[in-house]
Amino acid sequence: MTSYDYDLFVIGGGSGGVRAGRLAGSMGKRVGLAEEFRMGGTCVIRGCVPKKLYVYASQFPEHFSDAAGYGWTVGERSFDWSRLVANKEAEITRLEGLYTKGLNNAKTEILPYRAVLKDAHTVELVGSGKTVTAETVLIATGGRPFMDETMPGHELCISSNDVFDLKTLPKSIVIQGGGYIAVEFAGIFNGLGVNTTLVYRGKQILHRFDSDLYRLVSEAMAEKGIRIVTEAQITAVAQAQGESRLAVSLDNGEVLAADQVLQAIGRVPNTRGMGLENAGVKLAADGSVIVDEYSRSSVKNIWAVGDITNRAQLTPVAIHEAMCFIETAFKNNPVRPDHELIPTAVFSQPEIGTVGMSEEEAAKHYTNVEIYRAHFRPMRNTLAGRQDKMLTKLVVDGDSRKVLGAHVLGPDAGEMAQLLGIALKANASKDDFDRTMALHPSAAEEFVTMYTPSYRLVNGMREG
Ligand code: NDP
Repeated sequence: MTSYDYDLFVIGGGSGGVRAGRLAGSMGKRVGLAEEFRMGGTCVIRGCVPKKLYVYASQFPEHFSDAAGYGWTVGERSFDWSRLVANKEAEITRLEGLYTKGLNNAKTEILPYRAVLKDAHTVELVGSGKTVTAETVLIATGGRPFMDETMPGHELCISSNDVFDLKTLPKSIVIQGGGYIAVEFAGIFNGLGVNTTLVYRGKQILHRFDSDLYRLVSEAMAEKGIRIVTEAQITAVAQAQGESRLAVSLDNGEVLAADQVLQAIGRVPNTRGMGLENAGVKLAADGSVIVDEYSRSSVKNIWAVGDITNRAQLTPVAIHEAMCFIETAFKNNPVRPDHELIPTAVFSQPEIGTVGMSEEEAAKHYTNVEIYRAHFRPMRNTLAGRQDKMLTKLVVDGDSRKVLGAHVLGPDAGEMAQLLGIALKANASKDDFDRTMALHPSAAEEFVTMYTPSYRLVNGMREG
């Protein structure tokens, strides 16, 4: 029998890789984990965690102005970008430490190098002079921002990797894209007082979400001062002489002045230069590792989890896939990752929380769809004098009464979507929602007090 250096070698120290490495290590397996950058991956270092901290930072101006209606006088305020960046850095360093500690406690060996596969069982640790062998290999190297390198001046643009650590807060920014990252950063910069323009190539930002969500969030973002330019593409970015650093040309003939241009146009799997071809691992056209329903690649002993497989680019999905991988590969208990009904939030301002089908999707699959919808001003905004409204919406199969989708726009929408996710996963019917006691006064109580349909979609056509 061949003897390998490790039972499992994990490539990538992000959400998926760390979970798998820690679980296998704590089972007594001999585990090595290579990470060339910082432990924690995109989520901790330059994604979810710092993003949410910046969202909080950007919301204070609204809190300050809302305070007046509640009797408070807030004194002089100023914002220090470098302090935010430094405090964010301290927090992600703390989390990075916890990830490392978890691996150390599990006796998983951390190897701070880039790993390149030489064959299905052999990994070169670049720069260390070491080559190691493993019985099982897990690829969990995540993704990286896609940059449109065909666009003249693309080298003057930044990505979500750069945006957290800008030396100074720009006075103006143009953000390209209409997905999660573009919309979230538009809210952050606008909240911090930066003149913000979002340029999106399609008709409607966030168009993959329920139409109420994308319509209302677009209106609210515009109301808060973000300029959203739709059906426009950036054709070139050039250095400028005036007050702003850059001139941004659009295909509608407009030229925008901005200090920074952020490209947020999707993320691509990190499979380049990893020697996957040496091991015979098959990749899809988008560069992602092709895996079966258990996360096994085309090579028997090589598995892949997380963004590298481009199933759903979300941290909890990577963690779940890693846990299923451990069950399947090391516990003789094959478990398929379950990608149904993933709750998700967009930390836009206002926030989106959603799980299940949009109204449009439901109308394609069901002949009798009921929509329950409440659009109201949350209590907190009354004394604040804020006009921002909230949306709660249920999409229901009128025949079976099954709740197909639940959507929220407004404060704590993500928190609500997490809990709504449990109800939908448990196959809750509209009757279950109706017989749940309301918690008053709350915004979430709307979900159990929308007794009559706002309208119906019969064979895809709206009635009522
Ligand atoms: P998204 O896929 O959400 O959005 C990409 C956007 O870029 C779309 O609006 C797309 O337009 C547009 N686009 C794509 N290619 C081009 C191009 N060549 N020129 C102009 N526009 C283009 O990707 P993000 O980068 O925003 O985020 C990546 C992923 O990370 C998300 O899909 C999500 O899974 C995850 N994420 C999750 C977050 C959360 O959970 N809150 C937060 C941030 C990221 P079109 O729609 O027309 O194709």
